[in-house]
Amino acid sequence: MNEDLHRSERGPSAEEELTGSYPLLIECVTDYAIFLLDPQGIVRTWNPGAEKMKGWRAEEIVGRPFTLFYPSDDVASGKPRMLLMKAAQAGRVSDEGWRLRKDGSRFWASVVLTALYHETGAVKGYAKITRDMSERKRMEDELSETLRCLEEANRRLEESDRIKSVCLSMASHELRSPLTSIKGHVDNLLEGVAGALPEKVARYLDRINRNVDRVIRLTTMILDLSRIEAGEMRVDLEPLQLGSMIAEVCRDFEPTARSKDIAITVTPLADVAVRADRDKVEQVLHNLLHNAVKFTPSRGDIVVESGTADEDEVVITVADTGCGIPGDHREKIFEKFYRAPSHVQEGAGLGLAITKSLVEMQGGRIWVESEPGRGSRFSFTLRRA
Ligand code: ADP
Repeated sequence: MNEDLHRSERGPSAEEELTGSYPLLIECVTDYAIFLLDPQGIVRTWNPGAEKMKGWRAEEIVGRPFTLFYPSDDVASGKPRMLLMKAAQAGRVSDEGWRLRKDGSRFWASVVLTALYHETGAVKGYAKITRDMSERKRMEDELSETLRCLEEANRRLEESDRIKSVCLSMASHELRSPLTSIKGHVDNLLEGVAGALPEKVARYLDRINRNVDRVIRLTTMILDLSRIEAGEMRVDLEPLQLGSMIAEVCRDFEPTARSKDIAITVTPLADVAVRADRDKVEQVLHNLLHNAVKFTPSRGDIVVESGTADEDEVVITVADTGCGIPGDHREKIFEKFYRAPSHVQEGAGLGLAITKSLVEMQGGRIWVESEPGRGSRFSFTLRRA
C-alpha cells in the first residue's frame, strides 16, 4: 500500500497537525507585522500584528503595493524596489528606517525581508516581518542628544579652563618682572648704592621689600599651579644628597626664624642619597618651612628630621610647635585655595596643594599629623637612590 494513502486513512500525523497550526500562530502574533508579498511587491496576506502596527485592515491593503508603507522620498529614491532586489539575490535583507501608517504618521521600523523561491529557483514571493522600534529609536535619539549636549558643555569647560590658565600665567609673568625689578632697586638702596639712608627710610624700604616678596611668592605659586594643571611641570630625577640640601634650605630660613625667636634644628640620620629633582625638593622644604615659621608663635621650635622609612623610601619631617590644625581640616589643607581657621591672615591656600603635587610627581607621599594648640608634623617621602 502506498504510504500517503495509508496516512490519509489513519488521519494527519502529529507533525502535520503541528505544521498545520502555523498560519494560526501568525494570526496570534500582535507585536510583529507578518505578511507575504508577491514577486511584484503586492501585499498578499496580512496578520493582526500588521493591522495593529500600520492601521490598515486586511481587506483594505491586500492587493495593493507595499510601497504604500514607505515615505515618499524613499519611494522616489527606489528604496522599496532595491530591498526586494537585494532579498531576491541574497535570500534575505534587513533594514531599519521610517515607515508610514495608514493615517500618514511615521514609526521607526526594523524589517526583515526573506525571499521565497520556487523549486526552479525563481522568486515566488517575499515574507516580510516588521517590528515597531519607535520607542527604542526615541530613547537612542534622546541619548545621543544628551551625549551631544554633554560633549558641547565639556568642550566649553575645557576652553574656559584653557583661557583661565593662559590668563593666570600671563598675569603672573607680567607681574613678576616689574616686581623683581622693584625688589632689585630696593635691595640696592638698602645696600647703600645711593648713599647712607636715614633709619626711618631704611625701615620703610624693608617693609616694601617684605611685601614685594609676598607678591612675588604668590605670583610664582599661581604660575606653578597653572603649569601643574596644564601638565607642563616636568621633574628631572637624579641622585641627590639629602642632608646637605636640607641644611642649605634651613639656613635660608634662619634670619626670619631668628626675628621671631624660633629655633630651627636639623636632625638628619645621615646624608642619605635620594632619587629626586633638586629644585622641586627645595621648593617642598621651602613651602613646609615657610608655613612652620608662619604658624609658630615666638619662642617656638622647628625640627627637621630625615630618616629611612624602609629600603625603598626616605621620610622627611618638618615639625613645629605652632597653632596646629583642627582634625576636620587636616585632609583638606592639601586642596588648592583651602585655608584652615587660624590666627594667621596671610596666605592664599596654594602652597600645600603645589607641595603635594611636587612630592607625588617624584613618586612620594605627603601627610600631616597635628594637635591643635601644640603643633604640626608634615612628613613626605622620596625614593632612595
Ligand atoms: P597658605 O598660603 O594659606 O599657608 P598652604 O596651602 O600652605 O596655604 O596651607 C593651607 C592651610 O594649611 C593654611 O592656611 C593653614 O591653615 C594650614 N597649615 C599649613 N601649614 C601649617 C602649619 N605648619 N601649622 C598650622 N597650620 C598649617
